[in-house]
Amino acid sequence: MSITPTSLTALEILDSRGRPTLLVQLETSAGDLGRAGVPSGASTGSGEAVELRDRDATRYDGNGVLTAVSHVDGEIADALVGRTFLDQSEVDAALIELDGTPDKSRLGANAIVGVSMAAARAFAATRGTALWRQLTVTGESPRLPVPHFNVVNGGAHAANPLDFQEFMLAPLGAPSYAEALRAGAEVYARLRRRLADAGHATGLGDEGGFAPDLAHPDQVLELLVAAIGDAGYETGDRGVAIALDPAASEFRRNGLYTVADQRWSSQELVSYYQEMVDRFPVRSIEDGVGEDDDEGWRLLTERLGERIQLVGDDNFVTNPRIIERAIADGIANAALIKVNQIGTVSETLEAMTICRRHGYAAMVSHRSGETPDTFIADLAVGTGCGQLKAGAPARGERTAKYNRLLEISLEGPDLGFGRP
Ligand code: PGA
Ligand code: ZN
Repeated sequence: MSITPTSLTALEILDSRGRPTLLVQLETSAGDLGRAGVPSGASTGSGEAVELRDRDATRYDGNGVLTAVSHVDGEIADALVGRTFLDQSEVDAALIELDGTPDKSRLGANAIVGVSMAAARAFAATRGTALWRQLTVTGESPRLPVPHFNVVNGGAHAANPLDFQEFMLAPLGAPSYAEALRAGAEVYARLRRRLADAGHATGLGDEGGFAPDLAHPDQVLELLVAAIGDAGYETGDRGVAIALDPAASEFRRNGLYTVADQRWSSQELVSYYQEMVDRFPVRSIEDGVGEDDDEGWRLLTERLGERIQLVGDDNFVTNPRIIERAIADGIANAALIKVNQIGTVSETLEAMTICRRHGYAAMVSHRSGETPDTFIADLAVGTGCGQLKAGAPARGERTAKYNRLLEISLEGPDLGFGRP
């Protein structure tokens, strides 16, 4: 069923970090409405589609998005309103053509992705189906994903001395999504108690995880293992495992990685990960080395690619062409998927289709700057990728995604759960 937009507008709203972002609204001739809140990252890959900021120092420290808003209300609305679109790919092709740049920098990836997501919702409304039912990948059935709860924040997401950005709980052994959610929230609560008992602050980082004054990753991993046990779960595949996103580009300078005041070469960092995987129930590492460190990526994949999931984020930037090349080169074995990194829903689905076709895993992801928009929950379910990271089981913009998955479990009572 087609849509014909009759109006397209955007507003400058605030994201979860108090920075401006866009809310986009698309109305159709059938009277249906699609709305979307645009996410925004802090530790961005250099190849990401370009987010347009006003750079007007008199407003929001230069972070305003009124230019992007004016592009939605003006040029994009002029091009889309009154035209009939048969499907999502037609809308996205029109957006890409109108922008005309390879990185969506002219109209702004934040403007474009908002329109693309709003159009997806308008299609779902017109067809009278849940959003997840139309965000699919050929050859994969929809299923509920394993939630990856980011419970300790460091790096660019917190002001503590921790160099690694994200320490996540992955309840791989949970029998259902609801039980996985419970496990995440229960371990989170036990972790808070452990931190408080040890005299650490229990303030939160950008993604809702605790941001304790700890520097060494081992200290955090020890705490997580203890908290998992406190909550009565097994550690590892049969209970709650650990996933990491060191976001290593952020602590790499002149080819060396600084971790807890030690300076390591790529080889030393990879050796550390190997020991870590021997000692702790770590089952997934994202951006273990820097985005430009091709040698490091090769070494990491060679040493750990058969044992655990290795996820490319900053290096892959949800770009179908880059992911294809990495697959041919045998780099990593999974891709992180962020709609705003590439800028349209269709290209995101293409990236996930490529992963699926070549046996790479995919994990759908939020950004550190979020809105209550729950698009990514539907995306993770529809594509059947089996994994979603959306921050801690706390803070409204994060729990909105996790709670949306519960709603989806009502909409699709026969949906499977877990990695395919
Ligand atoms: P960002 O971080 O949203 O701040 O870019 C998320 C990530 O690195 O996965
Ligand atoms: Zn990342």
